[in-house]
Amino acid sequence: MNNLKKSIAYLSIMMLTATTIPASTVQAASVPKAGKYYTLKIAGKKQKKKCRNVKINGTIVKTYAPGFSRANTSMYSAYWLFEKQKSLGVSYSYSSKTKKVTLKRGSKSVVMTLDSMYAYVNGKKTKMPTPARKVYSYARKKNYIYVPGAFCITKLGHSYKWSSSQKSGLITTKSLSSSSSGSSSGSSCSGTSSITPGTRITASASNYSVRIKKPSGLSSSAISTSDDYSNRRLIIKVKGNYKTHFSSSSNRYIKTDKYFRSYTVTYSGGYTNIYIRPRKDVIKAYAVSQTSDYIYVKYDSPKKIYSRIVVLDAGHGGSDSGATGNGLREKDLTLKIVQSAKSYFNKNSGYKVYYTRLSDWYPSLSYRSDLANNVGADRFISVHINSATPSAHGTETLYNSKGYKSSSGLTSYNWSNKIHAYVRPATGFTNRGLKNRTGLAVLRNTKTASSLTEIGFISNEAEAKKMKSNTGTYGKAVYNAIVNSFSTYPSKR
Ligand SMILES: [Zn+2]
Repeated sequence: MNNLKKSIAYLSIMMLTATTIPASTVQAASVPKAGKYYTLKIAGKKQKKKCRNVKINGTIVKTYAPGFSRANTSMYSAYWLFEKQKSLGVSYSYSSKTKKVTLKRGSKSVVMTLDSMYAYVNGKKTKMPTPARKVYSYARKKNYIYVPGAFCITKLGHSYKWSSSQKSGLITTKSLSSSSSGSSSGSSCSGTSSITPGTRITASASNYSVRIKKPSGLSSSAISTSDDYSNRRLIIKVKGNYKTHFSSSSNRYIKTDKYFRSYTVTYSGGYTNIYIRPRKDVIKAYAVSQTSDYIYVKYDSPKKIYSRIVVLDAGHGGSDSGATGNGLREKDLTLKIVQSAKSYFNKNSGYKVYYTRLSDWYPSLSYRSDLANNVGADRFISVHINSATPSAHGTETLYNSKGYKSSSGLTSYNWSNKIHAYVRPATGFTNRGLKNRTGLAVLRNTKTASSLTEIGFISNEAEAKKMKSNTGTYGKAVYNAIVNSFSTYPSKR
C-alpha cells in the first residue's frame, strides 16, 4: 500500500473512532501553535517551553497540553496522545499513589515511574532519554503527565521521527504484526540521543556511516567521544572492558565509502577505545548518537556537521620561540592566550574550533593554512606578540587586503576590525590600528576571512609585564570577538 492510500485509510479510521466517542466525554481541544511559548512547571521549576506538535499519519493531534522539548527529545502528554488518540491502540493509566505510568498495546508495555530515568519495556529495565514528569500548566491550571514521545511510541510498535521544519513529531502507525517482525532490524529511531552536541545533523538508524552494537546493559552515560582531528580519527571512549565485544566484526556495520580507512579497538586504563579513521588526506567531522541498542556515527565534511567553524592559531611553537624579551617567549604567551579562549569554547557547543596547536610544537605555516582550508573554516585567527625597540608599544591587527572572504561575506578587513575592537580594549595598550600585510603566509593562503593580532610588544618592559599576567583576559577577548562576529555575519549554509 502506498503512503497516500495508507494515510487515507488511517484518517478514515480516526474519523470513525472520533465519532464513536460520546460527546460528553470529549474534552474540547484546539490545535496548538507550534513555536508558541507556554509557561510550565517541570520538576518543580517554572519555565517557558516552545510548543511542539505531534502528528499521527499526517494529522495534527489537538490538545490543551502541547508537547515540548527536553533532553533532546519531545515530551508529550500521555493523556492527550495515548488516551485520546484511539488510532494508536494504546491504553494509558496513571496511579497517583505509586506514581506509575502504564502504557499498553497488545503484548507490548511501557511502565514508567515519575522522575525515574528507567522504564520497564515489556518487563525489561530500559534507560530513557529523560524521565516521565508531572507538569503543571499555568494556562490550564492543571497537572498533566508527560512522557518521552519517541521512546514510548517506538517501544509500543509505531514509528516516530522528528521534523524540525514542521516542529512536529511524526507518528506513522504500524500494525502489531508488522512491527514485531521489524524489531530484529533495530527499532528505527527509538530514543536516539546525541552524544555530540552542537552538530547540525543527528546520526540515526537512517543516517549513519558506522553502526556499532552496544553490549546489553551498557549505560548510555558510559560512552563519550573525542574528535582527535590532528590525528585524523574519532575516539569513542567506553567505560569498562568491552574490547572483545567491540572487536567482533559481527557487532558493527560499516557503510564503507571512499573516505573510510579503519576501525580499531583498544583497552587501557579502565576504558575501551574505539577508533574510527577516515582517509588521511581529509578531515572529517562526526555526529554520534546512541539508542539503547546501537551507537551511530555519521562522518561528513565539517561544514555539513557544524554551523560555525573557527581555526585558532597560536603563533610559533616548538623550535620557533618567536620574539623573546624581558624574560618571555612569544610562543608561550600565544599558547596561553589560545588556551584561555579554548576554556570558553569548551563551554559553548555552538562553535567548532580547530586549534593548530595546543602544546609546544611547531606546526609549519602551510600546516596552519591547510587546516583552515581543509575544514572549510568560517574564520581564521592567528595570535602573535610584537617586538621592536624597547620604546615601541601598542596593539595592532594585521589583515590582507588581497585576502579571502568567508562564506558569509565577511572580509578579512572586517574580521580584523572586529578582533581589534575586542583585543585592543582588553590590552589597554596604545591603539596602533589595522595594518595591511599582503605578504604573510597565514593571511595569504587561508581561503577565508583571516586576521593576525599582535597583542603588544615583548620588547617593551611595561607591556611584557602586563602581557605575562593577562593572557586569560586576551583569550576571553578573542572568544568574545569570534562569538560577536558570528551574530553579525552568520554562516550561510
Ligand atoms: Zn609572531
